[in-house]
Amino acid sequence: MASHIVGYPRMGPKRELKFALESFWDGKTTAADLEKTAKDLRTSIWKQMSDAGITFIPSNTFSYYDQVLDTTALVGAVPPRYGWIGGEVGFDTYFSMARGNAKQPAMEMTKWFDTNYHYIVPELGPDVKFTLSSRKVMQEYKEAKELGIHTVPTIIGPVTYLLLAKPAKGVPKDFELLSLLDSLLPVYKQVLSELVEAGAEWVQFDEPSLVHDLEQYKLDAFKKAYSVLGANLGVKLLIETYFADIPAESYKLLTGLEHVAAIGVDLVRGTKTISLIKEVGLPGEKVLFAGVVDGRNIWANDLASSLKSLLELEKILGKGKVVVSTSCSLLHTAVDLRNETKLDSELKSWLAFAAQKVVEVVALAHALDGKKNEEIFASSATAQASRRSSSRVHNEAVKKAAGALLGSDHRRATPVGARLDEQQKHLKLPILPTTTIGSFPQTPELRRVRREVKSNKITEEEYVKAIKAEIASVVKLQEELDIDVLVHGEPERNDMVEYFGEQLQGFVFTINGWVQSYGSRCVKPPIIYGDVSRPKAMTVEWSKYSQSLTARPMKGMLTGPVTILNWSFVRDDQPRSDTCMQIALSIKIEVEDLEAGGIQVIQIDEAALREGLPLRKAEQANYLDWAVHAFRITTSGVKDTTQIHTHMCYSNFNDIIHSIIDMDADVITIENSRSDEKLLSVFKDGVTYAAGIGPGVYDIHSPRIPDTEEMAERIRKMLAVLESKVLWVNPDCGLKTRKYQEVVPALTNMVKAAKVLRAEL
Ligand code: GLN
Ligand code: ZN
Repeated sequence: MASHIVGYPRMGPKRELKFALESFWDGKTTAADLEKTAKDLRTSIWKQMSDAGITFIPSNTFSYYDQVLDTTALVGAVPPRYGWIGGEVGFDTYFSMARGNAKQPAMEMTKWFDTNYHYIVPELGPDVKFTLSSRKVMQEYKEAKELGIHTVPTIIGPVTYLLLAKPAKGVPKDFELLSLLDSLLPVYKQVLSELVEAGAEWVQFDEPSLVHDLEQYKLDAFKKAYSVLGANLGVKLLIETYFADIPAESYKLLTGLEHVAAIGVDLVRGTKTISLIKEVGLPGEKVLFAGVVDGRNIWANDLASSLKSLLELEKILGKGKVVVSTSCSLLHTAVDLRNETKLDSELKSWLAFAAQKVVEVVALAHALDGKKNEEIFASSATAQASRRSSSRVHNEAVKKAAGALLGSDHRRATPVGARLDEQQKHLKLPILPTTTIGSFPQTPELRRVRREVKSNKITEEEYVKAIKAEIASVVKLQEELDIDVLVHGEPERNDMVEYFGEQLQGFVFTINGWVQSYGSRCVKPPIIYGDVSRPKAMTVEWSKYSQSLTARPMKGMLTGPVTILNWSFVRDDQPRSDTCMQIALSIKIEVEDLEAGGIQVIQIDEAALREGLPLRKAEQANYLDWAVHAFRITTSGVKDTTQIHTHMCYSNFNDIIHSIIDMDADVITIENSRSDEKLLSVFKDGVTYAAGIGPGVYDIHSPRIPDTEEMAERIRKMLAVLESKVLWVNPDCGLKTRKYQEVVPALTNMVKAAKVLRAEL
C-alpha cells in the first residue's frame, strides 16, 4: 500500500536555511553558499523519506522564500517595477519581489488560508505575459532523480494561483483574475511536458482553494484547467486539497474530471469528508490520498484510530484505492522532535514533528497492507493511553469550572453607552483621547536583560530593577508627550503569547519547534498539552508599579484567550473551544486581580481572533460564537467603572463586524494603516457602534514618520462617519519593532493632531 507526503518544511531542523538566507542577504556569503545549504537540505529530506519507505515523495516543496512567489517566477509574472527583462528569474529579481530593494518596496504578503504562513501575493492584470521563467521544479525533480529518488513534483495549481492573486497597480479592483486562465494554462502545460520528458510519472497540483465554498464560475475554472492540463500527456495528476472538509461540489467536480488520477483530502480538519466519500464514491480508476496524519500540529498520531478510518475508506472504495498521506504539507508543523533535548520522555512520547510524521505515514501504509508493525502500534497505544490518563494533562477542577462557563452566557449587565459615562466620571478624558497599543521599542539592552535573567547571568533583583527603570522612563516619556491613557511598554515580554504561556499551567515550550511564518522568519508556538490554569497573578505587580508612577490612567495589558489559542499548538484531545474556555478562565481571574489592584483600564489583545475563522462558511458562526464568548468571559466580572479595551491587528472585519460588536469591549483599537476606506465603509453602511473605537492613525510597520496634518486629515475622515465622542487617537499597533528616533516624533505629531481636531470640534 502506498504512502505520500504532501510537503515538507524547508527551514531545516536547526533553521539552517534561515541562517544561510540571512547571511546571503547581508552579503556575508555567496549565492553558491546559499545554494549549497539548500541542496544539502533537500538531499537530506528526500533521503529521509526514501529511507523511511515513502512511495510518493514530493519535490519542489523547497523554496528560498515562498511557494507562491516560486509560482510567480515559474510563470514569469514579475511586476514591471522590478525591472526584470525576461529570461530565468534569478536571485536578484526573486528577492527584490520578496523583500524589496533600494528602489522598490516588496510585494504584499498575506496569510496562506487559515495558517500563520504568509505568501507573496501575485499582482496580475490584463497586460501580464505569462512565460516559463523558472526551471526550479524541473531542476528539483532531476536533482532527486540523480540521487536515485523518483519524486512527485508539486506545483501550486493554476486556479488557486489566480484566486490568491490581486489586481496589479492601476488595474481596476474588480478585474476578473480568472480571465487570465487561458493565457496561464499554456505555461503550465509546458511545465508538465518538460516534467514528463524528465521522467515524472505523477505531478501534484496543490489546489487548497477547492475547500472554499466556491461559486459555479470558479468551479468551472477548475474543470477547464484540468481538462486542458491532463489531456494527452500520459502523466498522472494528483489534485491536493487541504485545511478543511472538501465541499461536495468541489469533490464531485474532481471525481468527474477524466484526467485527474488522484484526489488528496484532509481527513484531520475535514471531519465530515469520509461521509461525503461514502455518499459520492470515487468512480473509475481514481485513487484517494487520505490525509490522516496531521500536518498542522505536533501530536503523535493515534495510529489505531487512523487505521480504522483507512480501513473504512478502503471498504468504501476498494483495495488499492487508498494512499496514506498527511492532512496538508508538513510545512505547518515543527521539523524534528529529536532536537528537543529539554522535554521529558513522557511528553515526547505524545509528540511527532515532521520527521516523525513521515514514519507514522509509512507505518499506517504497511498496516493497511496487512503488514502491521506491532511494536510501533503498541507504543502508539501506550502513548495515547498515558496522554488520556496523565494527571499532568487532566485537572478536574479546571474542567469543571470551564465546563460550567459554557452552560450560560456571560455579559456585563450595563450597556456599553452607560458604562462609558460611568468610566468618564473618574477617568475625565478629553475628547479624542490619545493612547498607544502597548509595547514601546524593545532595545538590544532590554533583550539582553531578559536573556540574562533566564540564564541566571543576572539576579532577579537586578532584572526587576532594570525593567522598573525602563517602565519609569516609558511613563515619563508619555507624560511629556501628553498622552492621555498610558501603557507600561511591555519591556518584560518577549512575545505576547509566550509571556503568558510561560506562567500558565498546561503549556510547554520547545527549543527547536520552529515553524516558518514568512521568508526566513519562524515562530515557535507554545504547546498547550493540558488543562490550563493560572497558579498566580501574572501581570499585577508590574501594572501596579506602573500605575504608581503616574496620576494618568495606566492600561493593564493582557493577551486574550482566542489569540493565545490561535498562536499555539493546541491539544487535539478535546474541542478547541473547551481549551479556549480554560484560558479565558485564567485571563478572567487576572483581569479581576488587576481591577482589585486599582487598575481602571485593562486592554485584552485579540490580535488573532480573525485568524481562527474556519474556511468553510458553515462553520464560521459557531467559531465566532465561542470565540467572542471566551473574550466576554474574561471581562464579564468587572465593575462598570472599569474600562475594557481590546486591540486587533487587522481591519478587514467588515464581514465579522457584528461579532466584534458582540465582544462588548468599551474601546477597541484596530490596525487601519493601509485601508481607511475599507474600515470606514462599515460605518458608512450604517452599522451603529456605541463603544469607543481607535482606528490606527499611522502605520507602525514602516519607519516613516507621518506629519501632524496627515494624521489630522485621517482623523477628519473618521469623524465624517463616527461620532467624536467614540473616537480615540492611537497608532495602529504596538511600537516594539520601532526605534525611539521614530516613535518620539511620530507620537508627538499624533498628539498634536488630536489637539488640532479638538480645537476644530
Ligand atoms: N499589546 C501588544 C503590543 O503592543 C499588541 C501586539 C499586537 O497587536 N500584535 O505589542
Ligand atoms: Zn496589533
